[in-house]
Amino acid sequence: MADRPRFGPAGIPPLFKILGARLSDIPRLLREEGLDAFEYQAVRWGQKPQMKQEDAESLGSEARKNDVLLSLHGSYYVNLCGKKEVVEASKRRLVACATAAQWMGAYVVVFHMGFYGRVEKSYAFRNCVNALKDVVATMNSLGIQNVKLGPETMGRVFQVGSLDEILTICEEVEQTQLAIDWSHLHARHQGQFRKVDDFRAVVEEVERRLGTEAARNMHCHFSKIEYTDKGERRHHVLDAARYGPDFEMLAEVIADFKMRPVIICETPILDVDAIKMRDIFRRVTKG
Ligand SMILES: [Zn+2]
Repeated sequence: MADRPRFGPAGIPPLFKILGARLSDIPRLLREEGLDAFEYQAVRWGQKPQMKQEDAESLGSEARKNDVLLSLHGSYYVNLCGKKEVVEASKRRLVACATAAQWMGAYVVVFHMGFYGRVEKSYAFRNCVNALKDVVATMNSLGIQNVKLGPETMGRVFQVGSLDEILTICEEVEQTQLAIDWSHLHARHQGQFRKVDDFRAVVEEVERRLGTEAARNMHCHFSKIEYTDKGERRHHVLDAARYGPDFEMLAEVIADFKMRPVIICETPILDVDAIKMRDIFRRVTKG
């Protein structure tokens, strides 16, 4: 949970990699750029943490030293409404991610819930809710109490993760964190965000369902996005004028509602666009 709007990249910026930076160097390099959040990408993880505990801990201590708030993007290989074996393996993958998140002090594991498949949507969704409750119970039995689970809004119509589904999970499952991927919603609904009021409507709906504090503390993903009739196709840089949504509109709503979200940039140029978003937000709040 952030104390102010925070901005950072989804994963290690390309330039840092070219410079040969180690994982523990990332928080300092981000601070030097004036960024204050970082989402570690555990997106290819299996059923065990794929990093050493000491590496996670040193990332965590450097992050605290440099005032960088950590989150962790969980494994893509999660489907909480598939066949029983798939669901069980998915639960173990989420627990592995939560374990590493606890090591590094990441406040949330953001993840994708899965696919409706051939079954009724509402049935698939119920399976997700139940599986998620099991994951929270396992986390608690392992003493993982400072990490929340953040299922995110998804960009394709066959993926579980409409706004309503995500809000329902936050209502029904303990230890969850609201995670809104604005670009995914934009793609899922064929260009949902065309004016400031379209963003405002989402925040108002969150307030109505989860309360003002949850709305202020949402975890966000943002990028420009290209879509087809099935939803998300590709993420684009912030300057890609032919694609939406427009970050400036969201920035206005963040200022209006006195929100303090963590905003993770998912464009191909990560930190460069995170800086751009931070500057847009500063400009909007000054003006
Ligand atoms: Zn994601």
